[in-house]
Amino acid sequence: MAFLQQATARPHHAYLFAGPEGCGKSLAARAFAAALLCKRGGCGECRDCRLALDDRHPNEFLVEPEGREIHVETVRSEVWHPAFRTAPEPGRKIFMIREADRLNPAAADVLLKVLEEPPADAILLLLSARPHELPETVLSRCHVVMFRPLAEGFVVRTLEGEGVSSALARLAARLAGGNLGRARRLATGVDGLSFRDVAVEALTRAARGPSGALAAADAVLDAAARYRKELTGNLGKELAPFLDERGRPEEAYRGAVRRLEERHKRRVTRAERDYVDWVLLAVSALLRDRIVAALGGGGELLINLDRIPDGGSVAVATRALAAVEEARAALAEDMNLNPRLVLERAFLRAGTAARDTDRREVVPAPWVHSATPPE
Ligand SMILES: [Zn+2]
Repeated sequence: MAFLQQATARPHHAYLFAGPEGCGKSLAARAFAAALLCKRGGCGECRDCRLALDDRHPNEFLVEPEGREIHVETVRSEVWHPAFRTAPEPGRKIFMIREADRLNPAAADVLLKVLEEPPADAILLLLSARPHELPETVLSRCHVVMFRPLAEGFVVRTLEGEGVSSALARLAARLAGGNLGRARRLATGVDGLSFRDVAVEALTRAARGPSGALAAADAVLDAAARYRKELTGNLGKELAPFLDERGRPEEAYRGAVRRLEERHKRRVTRAERDYVDWVLLAVSALLRDRIVAALGGGGELLINLDRIPDGGSVAVATRALAAVEEARAALAEDMNLNPRLVLERAFLRAGTAARDTDRREVVPAPWVHSATPPE
């Protein structure tokens, strides 16, 4: 990161931060943006730094996909127009484009026009886990910075540094498989570990039979709805720095406030799906720990370091795990699927696996025989 620090004095006009999902690109981009906006080169403490580190600086324009793509209208209104206008506050303008590989061709064309003749006070930061999917014309105009996957210890320390308790930071880092962004969302969700309590409860219910499986789906969706409601209440806090004493946006900040409101709306729309995914991820982790324990593993090999896994056979847990992972994949793939139906099906299958213990001799999971036998 040292060279980025030096780069703040004479930055290029466009950077591409490339690296796998969750490798810390966003974290680095936020820190870089703060350094570019801060009068002291990134002190980490002034108003510019704090707002930039929180993605809320009025001179910062954030573009992310809506649905599967980044649309041309978004690039026009959030990059093209503001790039050639005066910044809301004195200083540079930063354009951050997340998941830049999702720019559709028309959107990439508009972006290219800005990249070809960038205004002197504009800096573009593109982020992508699939940089090879970006048009060559865009790529060739960016200074590329490569990122590698993060070590679990780094993710834990980063979260601890952000005020997350050690226990939650370790669990979140494990659940997220070293993906910093996901770990942070898990660890800073409004109610901490509640998603895992919901997962434990759902698994217990699902094992009780078909009515239990349906009740498990209900419990997950209820918790997701509560999460969405709590998130809805957070907007006020985000907007506070830009409102006058009567709660209206100050003139210079109209655009910034509108952008924050729109982003918040997108997050609330996604909230229930995100929460359902966290719960399913936690269910997967519980089942995976059962498999590890059934094979004689434990301790540091577990994801849920603070829980003793429930007993059960490897084959049963494996079938349940497959059902849950299929549900996660289906929900991630198709935004139009009804989450209730997907959850019910997954818990019915997981529950059947838990009761149907005789089948395990007949259809073992393919890798059971090659696994290390219990000590
Ligand atoms: Zn500062």
